[in-house]
Amino acid sequence: MKLHIDTAPVWEAYRQDCECPLCLINDKIEAASVEYFLGESVMEPSQRIEVNEKGFCGRHFKLMFDAGNRLGLALMTHTYMKNTVARLEALMKRAQDAAGEGRPVFKRIVGKKDGGLQQVADEIRSMEDACVMCQRVRENMERYVYTVLYMYKNEADFPALFEKSKGMCLKHYTEAVRMAPEHLSGQALKNFISVLNNIESTNLKRVADELEWFTRKFDYRNEDKPWGNSRDAVERSINKLRGHVV
Ligand SMILES: [Zn+2]
Ligand SMILES: [Zn+2]
Repeated sequence: MKLHIDTAPVWEAYRQDCECPLCLINDKIEAASVEYFLGESVMEPSQRIEVNEKGFCGRHFKLMFDAGNRLGLALMTHTYMKNTVARLEALMKRAQDAAGEGRPVFKRIVGKKDGGLQQVADEIRSMEDACVMCQRVRENMERYVYTVLYMYKNEADFPALFEKSKGMCLKHYTEAVRMAPEHLSGQALKNFISVLNNIESTNLKRVADELEWFTRKFDYRNEDKPWGNSRDAVERSINKLRGHVV
């Protein structure tokens, strides 16, 4: 896989003190995507077709709602909604047929070729799960995870900075592990996984300890003891586990 390399955002993110540099990049891509879908993409026919078909997940609808361009969002949501209603009509007909009288109970629930109610529900759910923005962010992030791996191998000063980082959130850690063997091999791969696991494990334990101290601060005996790094331990723990969400 040949991907475009842009090292500047990775250098910038790794120079900041944070729980996951990839989440910083992710946030920027997401913010730019919100702007894009509420702005330029309205003009782009191929993008419009994709939005009409897939729409957005709840998180990304919410981000666009909060961004404030109600008319842009309304226009996009309206065409997506018309498309959804048309597709639902067909699925509803199938649901009605599947529920038809005189059919064996088993077939009514999981009928095979003609589609039982569960298949219809699964198809509706897959419509709910589709999101053009998730797809766009995921594709961009794949490029940046690759960039981290590339820099670890090819940029002399990067491994030291990487080792000093606080690891990643679990979501991006998993992506790094998944993509590492596609781009690194031999000693470089072994090295990368060993360093990554080391910083990940050290920092997960640190955050867990900070979270524990947060809970213990509520004990009156610890009232006067210093908070240390624990004041924001709840949000950092959640973000460490699920990527930047709070
Ligand atoms: Zn992350
Ligand atoms: Zn999404």
